[in-house]
Amino acid sequence: MNRHFRENLVIHTEGKTESIQCAKCFHTLGAVDEDWKAGCKVSLVSPDVAGPHRERLKGRFMFEQRYCPGCGVLLEATLVEVSANAS
Ligand SMILES: [Zn+2]
Repeated sequence: MNRHFRENLVIHTEGKTESIQCAKCFHTLGAVDEDWKAGCKVSLVSPDVAGPHRERLKGRFMFEQRYCPGCGVLLEATLVEVSANAS
């Protein structure tokens, strides 16, 4: 059984086991009590892709995009400070 979790993600229940899966290809990203983001492909994208305020973001922020490793669908995009990713 699958329940919608968020856009492009479902919670898959099989017996007593629950896992987070891609809603498109059903790739398992991890158990429901784990961080599903750890199972994603990640890329940092310039704020050039953003809307009208992108000039204010340049050099200070990047978009951290998380994709399904199975089918490549975008699962999450978060704005992150560049300095926070320097480690
Ligand atoms: Zn997928």
